[in-house]
Amino acid sequence: MEKIDIKSMALPELEALLKEWGEPRFRAGQVYTWMHQKQALSFEEMTNLPKALREKLEEQCRITRLSVRRKLVSQLDGTIKYLYELPDGETVESVLMQYHHGDSLCISTQVGCRMGCNFCASTLLGLARNLTPAEMLEEVYLAGRDSGRKVSSLVLMGIGEPLDNYDNVLAFLRILSSEQGFGLSLRHVSLSTCGLVPRIYDLMREKLQLTLSISLHAPDNETRSRTMPVNRKYPVEELMAACRKYFEETGRRISFEYALIQGVNDTEECAEKHAALLAGLPCHVNLIPVNNVTERGYQKSSPRQIKKFIAVLERHHINTTVRRELGADINAACGQLRRADKGEGATC
Ligand code: SAH
Repeated sequence: MEKIDIKSMALPELEALLKEWGEPRFRAGQVYTWMHQKQALSFEEMTNLPKALREKLEEQCRITRLSVRRKLVSQLDGTIKYLYELPDGETVESVLMQYHHGDSLCISTQVGCRMGCNFCASTLLGLARNLTPAEMLEEVYLAGRDSGRKVSSLVLMGIGEPLDNYDNVLAFLRILSSEQGFGLSLRHVSLSTCGLVPRIYDLMREKLQLTLSISLHAPDNETRSRTMPVNRKYPVEELMAACRKYFEETGRRISFEYALIQGVNDTEECAEKHAALLAGLPCHVNLIPVNNVTERGYQKSSPRQIKKFIAVLERHHINTTVRRELGADINAACGQLRRADKGEGATC
């Protein structure tokens, strides 16, 4: 019999399970706190539970844990890049970055990705499987345990498309932010999507405090469909309509990611179109000089071109930043460590 993945269970689910076992209600809260606050990795450690209950838990349930397969530490800025091994031997990446406001962790939501964005290394091997809520929680917990640092904000921008693993990501966020769980406010969480429009509406209805981040990367259907196949299904107009509705309903300002690729999407004309798309929408634009992916021959835009692009957006009063490059010496771009470990692509 397959053991129950108890670390993926929300508190009410755990309460229902232990009630079935004839346990008093408060026991579920104890087990939950052990797993998510004290981050116990065995039932044996849960010393305030009766021994018989610990034994039954051991027999019927498992506490998912990950291990660090590789770890790269930047000598430039302290960024740590982890390659984690999952219980079935698959691997995913997380990156811990230091900012003046605290440490931010970037986590993966799937093993691989099936979205096919052609500038992204994560998608080159396709999708192997979804991550479970427990595996995503462990990405956060293990980064904290291993580094001794406190994860104070989180971005779902590693390998995978979070909205393609919707139910597990939502379950993960609920446990992560619950008071008896890890207790991280969703105000400190950003979820990045390539634009699965129906799921954006679903997320809107959840009315969460998180920041929605849209990987736009091109302001018109022709360019966007060329680099991001998802655009053929959900074109720019539908995506922007969903974003406007999302802001109206949640009051949460949206963030737009735009990776600048030399000669592909970095002209002033593109910047003008980009500004027109966002007109009147309270938002933030994050420009990212594209990380080179050798297979595609894509190059970063020149600093001069980036300046021109910013100037256009600023003329239209659009709040714009350029992402600071962290971990440049450890090649922190997502998906590259996992591929190198599998013997494909450039090594780090
Ligand atoms: N699937 C989600 C989240 C994972 S990708 C999404 O698409 O948003 C996280 C971010 O990194 C996205 O904005 C993605 O477009 C960007 N990205 C992927 N490859 C990149 C590269 N080579 N250079 C710069 N940004 C890249």
